[in-house]
Amino acid sequence: MSEQKKPQLAVIGTVAIDAVETPFGKKDKVFGGSASYFAYAASFFSTVALVAAVGKDFPDDYRGILLERKIDLSHLEVYEGKTFSWKGKYEFDMNSAKTLDTQLNVLLEFNPRLKFKDPPEFLFLANIDPALQIQVLDQLKKPRLKFVACDTMNFWIENKRADLMKVLPRIDCLVLNDAEARELTGETNLVRAAQKVKELGPDHVVIKKGEHGVLGYFEEQFFIFPAFPLETVKDPTGAGDSFAGGMMGYISSQKELTLSTFKKAVAFGTVVASYTVEDFGLESLRQRTIENFDERLDIFRKLSSF
Ligand code: AMP
Repeated sequence: MSEQKKPQLAVIGTVAIDAVETPFGKKDKVFGGSASYFAYAASFFSTVALVAAVGKDFPDDYRGILLERKIDLSHLEVYEGKTFSWKGKYEFDMNSAKTLDTQLNVLLEFNPRLKFKDPPEFLFLANIDPALQIQVLDQLKKPRLKFVACDTMNFWIENKRADLMKVLPRIDCLVLNDAEARELTGETNLVRAAQKVKELGPDHVVIKKGEHGVLGYFEEQFFIFPAFPLETVKDPTGAGDSFAGGMMGYISSQKELTLSTFKKAVAFGTVVASYTVEDFGLESLRQRTIENFDERLDIFRKLSSF
């Protein structure tokens, strides 16, 4: 394998074996997980290290997929037992997944110990137990760490709210979907929900609304983007994680963070996610190059300007 560059961006999250059902098909043993989608997407823009746990059943082929993008796997720990698995179903309205089963498996033992010689300056706390997000935050600190963003979901909001509340004051940006924003804050209105999230800690908030685009809140400034209009949506799994990967990958490649770079990062996130959903798992992203993202970004810019 060719030599790996120092990772600029680290992600902790799940590496999973999914079973997914959509109106367009049903697939077992799909390579998934919040950190897998995130790292794969971010690797088009930046150098990425993945911090995660898998079981002995984790296929070499899946490891090979991550290595295709030169993702640093020195913190991918193999435990006895089974890899985290998730089973989900999308009805005809593909905006939200119904979780049929979650098996935490090796996540119950996961104890991340970071040993970076030259620690990354950007961190993404992908969807995982907030207690594990805290463990990583305790090991990668500011001022070395320049920017930290985080994702979560209903599973953790409902089961680990107290730990999640401890994460929020320690991050710069929370990325979550509309239902999660409403559940976390108790606000039905998303503008007010974003403001309430900011009161809980992060300076910036990105609320994803599936096919209806995103609401961004950068410091005191709101902005909105549509989603990329698509004729084919086969499997929305991983849209949120690859959105965050495109967004954080771009941010970590930039010298400074302004409203303008943040908006471009959110636009790249939108474009990357638009490719993810066109096929099951990572299949569509595996066919992409950075040129594809640039081309679609140009189209996206034209179709949303007036
Ligand atoms: P999304 O981008 O929101 O569609 O995320 C999809 C991925 O999240 C799937 O590949 C799942 O393996 C993973 N996932 C599902 N439930 C959880 C959970 N409770 N914690 C962390 N990751 C999860």
